[in-house]
Amino acid sequence: MADSPYGRRPIHTIKLGRQTSEDDKLRYVDVKPKLEFGGTIGAGLLTVALPLFLVAYVALLHRTEPTLTAIANIRSVDLKSLFTFEAFLIVFAWFSCSLLSYLIPYGRNVPGRRLPDGSVLHYNCNGLIFLLIALVGFEVAYIFNVQVIDYVVVNIVQLTVASIVLSFVLSVLLFIRSLSVPKSALSDAGYSGNAIYGFFMGRELNPRIFGIDLKFTCELRPGLVGWLLIDLCACAVNFKQTGSVSPSLFFVTAAQGLYIADALWFEEAILSTTDITCEGFGFMLAFGDLAWVPFLYCSQAIFLMNAESHTPQAIPHWFLIALIALFVVGYVIFRSANLQKNNFRSQPNNASSTAMKSIATGVKDRRLLCDGWWGWVRHPNYLGDIIMAFSWSLACGFRYTAPYFYPFYLCVLLVLRAERDERSSLRKYGSAWTTYCQEVPYRIIPGIW
Ligand code: NDP
Repeated sequence: MADSPYGRRPIHTIKLGRQTSEDDKLRYVDVKPKLEFGGTIGAGLLTVALPLFLVAYVALLHRTEPTLTAIANIRSVDLKSLFTFEAFLIVFAWFSCSLLSYLIPYGRNVPGRRLPDGSVLHYNCNGLIFLLIALVGFEVAYIFNVQVIDYVVVNIVQLTVASIVLSFVLSVLLFIRSLSVPKSALSDAGYSGNAIYGFFMGRELNPRIFGIDLKFTCELRPGLVGWLLIDLCACAVNFKQTGSVSPSLFFVTAAQGLYIADALWFEEAILSTTDITCEGFGFMLAFGDLAWVPFLYCSQAIFLMNAESHTPQAIPHWFLIALIALFVVGYVIFRSANLQKNNFRSQPNNASSTAMKSIATGVKDRRLLCDGWWGWVRHPNYLGDIIMAFSWSLACGFRYTAPYFYPFYLCVLLVLRAERDERSSLRKYGSAWTTYCQEVPYRIIPGIW
């Protein structure tokens, strides 16, 4: 077989109709993967623009008046003060603890998807323990009035910058490491033959060091648990300044706490998500996990903490009840849709899975579910996520647009993700995917898109 400029990539053999042990075998084909995000130029621009945007946005939220005109003042900030060694040490210690938590000998040992080279990796799903340890640590810091709680709120911009620096360092190390691993360990982007694109998308699919699966551990722990700790720091500071935690800040923190605890409770469900099964570990995921998620997703809490200490606003009870109801609707759709698909994928032959309407794809144990939530729209879990995001921002009132960035960004992200996922599903399942799209014509919003 001639080598193409894009290398040789292993794929699962697809046998339509007959299912034998041959179905699990792999063959090598020459492939030219489609470059996502605008290829080299898009990946290069995003690598520079996303960190700059994040720093500006966090700095903006930190202002008493987070209006667009305040951006003009951000230019007068002393750039040297943005990076401090102290903030970097804190971020590095946090990152190290989250990685080490993978080694705690407690939790479920769960097999992942079969890899292109035919092997199956096992994952230590003990993220919930890490969350509990982090919450106990926060409680101890609060009771003993350790200064770190105020430090996080006051130095949130410096912590953001330190996390960005750490994600760059991690991505460079991952890129260097990926140059010496076998080709079968690479993601699609690893076959692109393009250094900038490979750096951004991630070349190695499952980097592991000292028994720690780096991509799996970073996926939820430093980002999601860090996000909850920042929310809690905002509540603690709000309590210190005003003698109570405002109902809207309480709602946002409790709802986000539930969302985060849920993700760690069902940690093994991420083994069937695109990030784990398809993406390499590069700058996109490292920056997302270490910087973007914790410092952007806490935006409503940081906004409310600042707003409440300067211009407290009473949120009407009926509005709060409506927001709780909106959140619950989003959560139920999100959780039950994810569970439905995860059970269907992980136990394809049990009674509840076989009783559901589905479409054969020709790939062993990979029928397409077109029943329940997945018979309603093709990405019901995305819809639930978006509904929850809007409930959090609506709790921030209508005076400023800054706290609405997250739900609108999530809409764009999940629309692009749905399109990417559908291109990949079409490549995997061909006509079976087309049949599914005919059966379930809408992607995220029934009757609209
Ligand atoms: P999914 O969990 O929906 O995974 C997509 C995969 O599921 C597909 O590639 C396909 O893989 C399988 N699949 C799709 N349709 C069907 C079907 N009808 N029947 C059976 N299998 C199907 O997507 P993501 O990994 O993108 O997201 C996971 C969760 O994370 C979502 O709830 C999402 O909202 C959330 N998320 C949140 C983000 C945030 O920033 N808040 C960002 C990204 C995601 P295969 O056939 O190979 O099994």
